[in-house]
Amino acid sequence: MGLVKSEVSILAVDDDTFIIKLLQQALKRLGFSRFAASGDGEQALALMARASSAPDLIILDLSMPRMDGVEFIRKLTEQDYRGQLILISGVDERALRSAEKLVLAHGLNLLGRLQKPIVPKELALLLVKLMKASTEFQPRPAGIKRYSGARLEQALAQGELVNVYQPIVDLRTGALLKFEVLARWQHPEDGLVMPDTFVPDLEDSYLIDALAYDVLTRALDAAAQWREADLRVALAVNLSMQNLVTIELPDRFEQAVLERGFLPKDVTLEVTETRPMTEPARVLDTLTRLRLKRFPLAIDDFGTGHASLAQLRDIPFDQFKLDRSFVHRGWFERDVKAMFDTSLSLAKQMDMVVVAEGVEHREDWDFVRASPCDWAQGYFIAKPMLAEEVVAWADSWHQRVRRELMPPELESPGASKAPGGAKATVLVVEDNDFQRKVQSRILRDEGYHAVTAGNGREALQLLRSLRPHVILMDLDMPEVSGLEVLRRLRGTSAFRHTPVVIVSGANVKNAVEDCMAAGASSFMLKPFDRKTLVARVEKALATTPTKN
Ligand code: C2E
Ligand code: CA
Ligand code: CA
Repeated sequence: MGLVKSEVSILAVDDDTFIIKLLQQALKRLGFSRFAASGDGEQALALMARASSAPDLIILDLSMPRMDGVEFIRKLTEQDYRGQLILISGVDERALRSAEKLVLAHGLNLLGRLQKPIVPKELALLLVKLMKASTEFQPRPAGIKRYSGARLEQALAQGELVNVYQPIVDLRTGALLKFEVLARWQHPEDGLVMPDTFVPDLEDSYLIDALAYDVLTRALDAAAQWREADLRVALAVNLSMQNLVTIELPDRFEQAVLERGFLPKDVTLEVTETRPMTEPARVLDTLTRLRLKRFPLAIDDFGTGHASLAQLRDIPFDQFKLDRSFVHRGWFERDVKAMFDTSLSLAKQMDMVVVAEGVEHREDWDFVRASPCDWAQGYFIAKPMLAEEVVAWADSWHQRVRRELMPPELESPGASKAPGGAKATVLVVEDNDFQRKVQSRILRDEGYHAVTAGNGREALQLLRSLRPHVILMDLDMPEVSGLEVLRRLRGTSAFRHTPVVIVSGANVKNAVEDCMAAGASSFMLKPFDRKTLVARVEKALATTPTKN
């Protein structure tokens, strides 16, 4: 994993106390608080000798009395300094150039230079580079440990593997959609071992199937627990290409899912091509059968590794995960933005739902939200967490969405505005896929912002953070009926007056009366045409104080 800002140690060496103060303040504002400074080279070297580890970054003034910068650099090379270096220069461009040559000749990592007077923004740019360098030159540490098949088998048998879960959320509504399941190995001696270390070793053996099954069943058991706490979310599980060579996988997965009271649609399978496909026909066959069983399929890490365009043509993927190298800092770096736009438009042309990975900072979040991306995942939303942390996190997420991430359209219902110039926000609650699509398409055509929920429970969850102007609600849904949802909403202050149009398939007299008694605004029979739908929504808006 890369550096964390608050843990990056920085040493500034400059005889000018004003510059030192300025650096310290600018760094602090940028979140770098481990800062030390020294007014001359000798003293700085002494400081380094006493510290337990060398600084990650040295900011060095070239012209100092006693030991100048060039000499200081020489000393650094003698000490085999492996961190990064920023040079500060005054007026003397030549001194700077010869110092740079020296640095490069000795293989020191030169991050860049700052010209006096120092501009904090330029410093900030260099630090962005630093954080990037820290992830890119990341170890695969010298001598990455390999584990034998026998040891891995033992780990699986003894339950040393654990799952962590990272949320995926809807960029428009903030709704929590699912958790990607990531494997970790709690090694008794080596500590926490990451999947990048042990998955490749497993891929070469039949154990990769054991891993997939182990991870899936553990996640399903966890999700069953969350359900007890009234949190219904889907899962996303990672599969290697190697898993897809196994013909039995679709049946085993389906059985595991059904046995625990879930459906295949609740478990997205994320597929990465970490190495060239060895048996494309079999892989295609397995994927097709998974698709027929209605497991959603996501293409993972497209554009990195071996994943290639051919996959998209042949395999019915529903979702497309944009690798974090195309997302993170896309607001800032032209190359990243170009890759982001290209892959995004490719995925959209193929009608796939696009998930942006690596949303690490607020800037990334705003960047992807302003794009046609659908969903997001990354440290800004949450780092992977343990199963036991999930329910509490979900609550805090909904609060955060309301308070901080999407306040304008979600404030008090009376003051709310639909995003992006839409006429109003309409929530469509409908368990029938076709109906839901048709209704939301019509609404979007008509200039509304349409948000959908596939059942009553999902609707209630969405409504923790969403304040639609109108709700279109199917009456007949499994588990929680439309009537039940309506009754619950009317019991809350936030939704006492939100217009709810009940949609029903059969002409059941009692149902109409029950719904009206429960506070429905109107009632609409299926099938209905576009005109009726639009008229109902317009009427609902007209009779309520919540319209714009
Ligand atoms: P992936 O499927 O691309 O998973 C996302 C990785 O990105 C995870 O690393 C996650 O912790 C990390 N990540 C998420 N958000 C951010 C962010 O904002 N910034 C940064 N820098 N990183 C972020 P992790 O857990 O180390 O997993 C690495 C890879 O190992 C996964 O990449 C996946 O391909 C593989 N993997 C994990 N679990 C399994 C598994 O059960 N089976 C298989 N076959 N592969 C797995
Ligand atoms: Ca993945
Ligand atoms: Ca990925």
